[in-house]
Amino acid sequence: MSAYLYQVLERLVAFDTVSSNSDAPAMEFLAERLAAHGFKVHLHRINIAGIPQLNLIAWAGPPRPDGLTISGHLDTVPFAGQPGWNRDPLKLGVDGERVWGRGTTDMKGFLAECVAAAAALELRALKRPLVFIFTSNEEVGCLGAESVCGALGSILGEFPAPRLVWIGEPTSWQVQHAHKSIVLFEVTVRGVGGHSGAPAQGVNAIAVAGRALEAIGHLQAERSRPSGKFMRIFPDAPYDVLNVGTIAGGIAANIIAEQCRFGITYRSLPDAEPLEIYREIQRRLAALDPYDYASRNHRAAIEVGPPMVVPPLLAPRDTELERALLEATGTHAVGGALFGTDGGWFARAGMVPLICGPGDLEQAHKPNENIRRAALESGTDKILKIIERLLFH
Ligand SMILES: [Zn+2]
Repeated sequence: MSAYLYQVLERLVAFDTVSSNSDAPAMEFLAERLAAHGFKVHLHRINIAGIPQLNLIAWAGPPRPDGLTISGHLDTVPFAGQPGWNRDPLKLGVDGERVWGRGTTDMKGFLAECVAAAAALELRALKRPLVFIFTSNEEVGCLGAESVCGALGSILGEFPAPRLVWIGEPTSWQVQHAHKSIVLFEVTVRGVGGHSGAPAQGVNAIAVAGRALEAIGHLQAERSRPSGKFMRIFPDAPYDVLNVGTIAGGIAANIIAEQCRFGITYRSLPDAEPLEIYREIQRRLAALDPYDYASRNHRAAIEVGPPMVVPPLLAPRDTELERALLEATGTHAVGGALFGTDGGWFARAGMVPLICGPGDLEQAHKPNENIRRAALESGTDKILKIIERLLFH
């Protein structure tokens, strides 16, 4: 079984499924594997920014309620231009305690375990349904999950979509039931360009952007008060967090900058409306007098771009899946994740997701990404154990 696990993972790593590429060849490979192991499969075609992408839905067992969905994403973050690589990101490397390659931790390792578990599974023993949902474009805003949630009913037809969802994102086999929402957007400041020797004729967009950032900084400070309710779930940051991650503006030091753009991501506590802070930023920037220190003659225009939203997750505790995962992983605590997942969309669709997977978060998105062999190899059995406990009776 372990040989097959490595074979599948080697194939998966070799497909370049960076989010901006089509995942179709890799998803077709997974569909072909699961079909060979007796699953009904459906490739859900979507188009993201002009690129054809696939989600995969595979199911087996009797069409009853109370089944289980096991889910993961197939896309990876980019590696080209990322400093620090001294291996081929698309070639599976196995040495000593570790298995190397882009996606081994996040999260092709888990997908390979799912396929290996499907191969070993006695489908006739399923008394309740098992569904695999493998998604596209998770790393760029959970876009595959968003569209698959809307289509799931018509894809599965009479087959009831399971309420419980297990997402194998890298948590070092810790069980996590919550994450914050994520909102991402750009702010553009448009000024009036000109010669820096004649400031009265222009408006420097960078100067106004600085004042906009100051206003956003005040909001950030106000929101940094810890919430007692989330102290235990997010001990590292039990409050809303905000990051201005990019900024670009101007073309030369002696030209009045005509434009300045900056990119913001924030994460709100899961019980808050995700767009509340976005609206507050819109309000505060609209109230700001967008003048340039160098000249009061003109005003800049501040435009807050459309937000991309990943919904939060705050799944109810003590489900059958939670008990089974705690037992299979030998852990006791259930906490919150620092990252967003497809689970936000699944939760919005009425499902109850939990996050628990073999990789270690510190390996995700890193150069020379790798996964511990022991964590990888034990995953297939964990998946089989969970299926047996939840679906064999
Ligand atoms: Zn991931």
